[in-house]
Amino acid sequence: MSARTRARLAAARALLDAPPPEPLPGQAALDVPIADRPPLTCDTGNPVCGAPARPYAAGPRCDRHRPSTYRPQ
Ligand SMILES: [Zn+2]
Repeated sequence: MSARTRARLAAARALLDAPPPEPLPGQAALDVPIADRPPLTCDTGNPVCGAPARPYAAGPRCDRHRPSTYRPQ
């Protein structure tokens, strides 16, 4: 690895450690600070599950309903 590559990687790591920039007004559809967002809850089932969830492409899902394990009957 060359000295130039090492310097570029160090600069990239420094960027990862920096806090994200403040969002510009109008950048997001709704400006909600991350701390004020409600926790994700599972939206699967009828009645809705509502357990603490993680984000997936299919939506917020709990461990029981995550897409790789849940098959609707
Ligand atoms: Zn669930």
